Amino acid sequence: MLTLAVQKSGRLTDKTLNLLEECDIKLQNGRKAKLKNRAKNFDLEALFMRDDDIPEVVFDEIADIGVVGENVFLEKDRDVKIIKRLGFSSCRLSLAVPKEQEYDGIQDLDGKKIATSYPKILKSELTKRKVKAEIHVISGSVEIAPSIDLADAVFDIVSTGSTLRSNGLKEVETLLESEAVLIARKSSLGEDQIILDELLFRINSVMKAADKKYILLNAPDSAIDAISDILPGMKSPTVMPLAKEGWSSVHSVISEEDFWKNIKKLKELGAEGVLTFPIEKMIL
Ligand code: ATP
Ligand code: ZN
Repeated sequence: MLTLAVQKSGRLTDKTLNLLEECDIKLQNGRKAKLKNRAKNFDLEALFMRDDDIPEVVFDEIADIGVVGENVFLEKDRDVKIIKRLGFSSCRLSLAVPKEQEYDGIQDLDGKKIATSYPKILKSELTKRKVKAEIHVISGSVEIAPSIDLADAVFDIVSTGSTLRSNGLKEVETLLESEAVLIARKSSLGEDQIILDELLFRINSVMKAADKKYILLNAPDSAIDAISDILPGMKSPTVMPLAKEGWSSVHSVISEEDFWKNIKKLKELGAEGVLTFPIEKMIL
């Protein structure tokens, strides 16, 4: 059985459980389980815990794999590896200074005091940029540090920047872009590797389908070649004759971005009755 460490309650929880659902893995106790939850139809058990503990339990082999923010993976610095970037719960780790303070570049922070909950990441990023600063570790409410004269700057997670602004700070430098990642231990999973491969196959199929749409339209036969060039699909579009003479129905797959880029052109070519549907999974 493959054990998967999942954040108990936080920004990663719903998205991780949604991903399992999209992979058609159904947990016995739905979303209600507190500690452990076995899957009904897949050889997997989810273990729920604080995200900070996930790199450690994967390293200690209490769980085989886990979903955690890349920021936590880097900060905890356990000897485990990223096996899949999951694309959700994106955020950035940035430096911020009081908004009235002039800022011309990261070298301005040389010799200054920076408050953070991410000392390892900060130290390594500052070293890369040849800046020497004093790092002051605080576990929460980092953004209030400058206002109580605890630090000259902060290094913290930012998503919209509103928390920084409401504390009189301005974001001046992004040092790390983070997203949720699937981590695993470096040593062999033995027979459980087969289950992990199956899980990764499903995750890849779901992620490939994520921004794709199934598109269906009617077009005059004379326009089919031009429309096929716009909608190549996976190999080529499916073209089927309509009952109305001289018209066909075209079925294909298109990315959301290409759909909006090309919809006017398709209409100009004579496309009518354009429908799109979400795609659950895509296997190439
Ligand atoms: P726990 O109680 O499990 O320790 P937490 O408070 O440390 O939870 P959350 O706030 O739930 O963690 O965030 C989990 C992860 O979500 C972060 O480590 C980060 O990777 C990601 N994330 C995305 N956007 C944000 C954001 N605006 N603020 C904080 N984390 C974010
Ligand atoms: Zn945490």
